[in-house]
Amino acid sequence: MSDSNDTIFGKIIRREIPADIVYEDDLCLAFRDVQPQAPTHFLVIPKKHISMLAEATSDDHAVLGHMLLKAKQVAADLGLEKGYRVVIINGEDGGQTVYHLHIHVLGGRALAWPPG
Ligand code: AMP
Repeated sequence: MSDSNDTIFGKIIRREIPADIVYEDDLCLAFRDVQPQAPTHFLVIPKKHISMLAEATSDDHAVLGHMLLKAKQVAADLGLEKGYRVVIINGEDGGQTVYHLHIHVLGGRALAWPPG
């Protein structure tokens, strides 16, 4: 895995490709998923390239907490008052397709459990 952040999410951070951005600050970016699995489906990503949760270190303590708090803030801002699901997909068996850490936030309908 490259550290150069040559992923689609790196390109979104650098504004090389467009995204429907719903929140941004110095540490993270949130944007709507291009293939939404619920009426509201957005992703929160760190601006720092961390390929997956398993690669995070104690240096990432603050950014990981920050992302989770921003996930709940954006969920509230987007009107998910009835609840939502927060998902991190890690690695091959998790089904990860983009190797830049991201938090999925899904809401706007009742979600089933367990997932596939
Ligand atoms: P995963 O790695 O399985 O957690 O999934 C990556 C997610 O990124 C999927 O839900 C994709 O639909 C989403 N995605 C891929 N490319 C883009 C893009 N250009 N803009 C927004 N979302 C994207």
